[in-house]
Amino acid sequence: MHDKRPAPVRTCVGCRRRAPSHVLVRVRSGADRQLEVGAGDGRGAWLCRPPGGLECFDTAARRGALAQALRTGVSAEALALVRARLVGHHDAPTRRDGPIDDETQDGTSH
Ligand SMILES: [Zn+2]
Repeated sequence: MHDKRPAPVRTCVGCRRRAPSHVLVRVRSGADRQLEVGAGDGRGAWLCRPPGGLECFDTAARRGALAQALRTGVSAEALALVRARLVGHHDAPTRRDGPIDDETQDGTSH
């Protein structure tokens, strides 16, 4: 395999570390002023992966960096919810962020 595209680099909104997106976690603004974790529509902010990323999250939350990156008002309640999700996130299987390449090719032409 010679497919060695460089991974997109993102900046953690907590510690300002630059890292490939697959070692970071994406938080985005969801519906109803809630925040979502993972890929999806809308503006995203990047944080280091938990458990270390929880510190980044707290730093970002305190500084208002999340709200700034997402360009939306972020309630304390929404922050608490996302924090709880991040706590559980590092147990979840790694999923690739980004658009889903759903190029299913049925081999029916033979
Ligand atoms: Zn960080």
